[in-house]
Amino acid sequence: MAIASINPATGETIRTFEALDDAAIEASLARASSAFRVNRERSFAERATRMRRTAELLELRKNDLGRLITIEMGKPVKAAVSEVAKCATTCRYYAEHAEGYLADEPVKTDAKESFIRYEPLGPVLAVMPWNFPFWQVFRFAAPALMAGNVALLKHASNVPQCALAIEEVFRDAGFTDHEFQTLLIGSQQVESIIGDERVRAVTLTGSEPAGASVASIAAKHIKKAVLELGGSDPFIVMLSANLDEAVATAVKARIVNNGQSCIAAKRFIIHESIADAFEKRFVSAMESLKVGDPLDESTDIGPLATPQIVDDIESQVNQSVAAGAHLLTGGKRLGARGNFYAPTVLAQIPYDAPAAREETFGPVASLFRARDVDEAIRIANDTPFGLGASVWTIDRAEMDRFIAGIDTGQVFINAMVASDPRVPFGGTKHSGFGRELSAYGIREFVNVKTVWVG
Ligand code: NAP
Repeated sequence: MAIASINPATGETIRTFEALDDAAIEASLARASSAFRVNRERSFAERATRMRRTAELLELRKNDLGRLITIEMGKPVKAAVSEVAKCATTCRYYAEHAEGYLADEPVKTDAKESFIRYEPLGPVLAVMPWNFPFWQVFRFAAPALMAGNVALLKHASNVPQCALAIEEVFRDAGFTDHEFQTLLIGSQQVESIIGDERVRAVTLTGSEPAGASVASIAAKHIKKAVLELGGSDPFIVMLSANLDEAVATAVKARIVNNGQSCIAAKRFIIHESIADAFEKRFVSAMESLKVGDPLDESTDIGPLATPQIVDDIESQVNQSVAAGAHLLTGGKRLGARGNFYAPTVLAQIPYDAPAAREETFGPVASLFRARDVDEAIRIANDTPFGLGASVWTIDRAEMDRFIAGIDTGQVFINAMVASDPRVPFGGTKHSGFGRELSAYGIREFVNVKTVWVG
């Protein structure tokens, strides 16, 4: 894929970039290695000062950076500005909590003294996706830098300006020894970087094929990998739920980021006794959404990030309809230019149709009906993915059955699934392994050293 900023609302190419050559990559790896010697020796307080300054700069620049996000990948600008602000919150969160999360932990043993120490590993490579071009990077980089590691970013090829802007923010905030470097490279250049002995670990957020490839390269070189991959999250509405709130949140949860979020609700599993009412209100709400210019603050849904994503979503919808699914609304491209696709709702979907089995990365909702809790859990788990789940019920016994029965990394009750620096984020099954955020995230890329004093 060429490294280029192409406005998804217009198709206009804004800037193109040459990929780094081998000599430039070698220079970056050498800089990362010396930067690690600097950052690991810094105190938590020194790292925290830089991380707090990073937060300040993000807040100062959030409008310009938000606009840049929108122009490169099409997210509505209000959401893009909020994304930058969330990165600032997370920088502050780790500035405050990293030292406590990584403090020596005494352990009672037969030794005179024994404890666990958390030490940084070194340069960590992050292979990141375009859908949250700032948030995905910061939720890796803030804990990694606070732990004393250094970061190498290979960002998605369609968001190079975001990638460079992030590097600039860290540098301007005082990470001036190349503790964070953006490498403008193609995916075929990732293997040799993982294989380099100076790089100690890799984290990838993206699709299953990319995750499988990167994890197998990491395994070959005996290196730690964290994978945050796709999802087909269920959104379950039971009889006792507040239907108005459930419908309003269902729409929001499906169209977040123009439908291109790993934790967007994709499969809506509704108790059969309220399914007709839910369907009617949900379809009407999806039809009333404003699709259009993502730079207009009143827009609900902007363009999909690339023409390929529109082709993929169109093919998934068409194949599902051909297999017998009912198209309740949408199912077509919109506009004369740009990557626009109509909010779409499908029902009565055969179990093996793409809208039931695959991740739909666009504004396409799949509706299912369930007789009871057991059937709702069965449908929820009938997917290769296990990222998140949202359940709507006020019945405590039902809640407990869903919490225990759903095989995902997170279950949200009467709320939409969201990431938050205070709680761990990650998946089961094909959604990946490892965790980001909270204490779990910062401990992914550290050496857990046992110290035993006899
Ligand atoms: P993608 O095609 O897998 O790309 C993600 C990143 O991986 C990009 O930087 C890409 O580089 C790189 N890449 C692709 N193939 C690679 C390979 N064989 N070796 C090394 N690097 C490779 O995914 P995407 O379409 O950008 O992102 C959407 C996917 O990410 C969805 O499945 C979504 O659910 C998932 N996602 C998951 C989470 C989570 O936290 N679980 C969060 C956000 C998104 P190029 O751009 O140069 O190809």
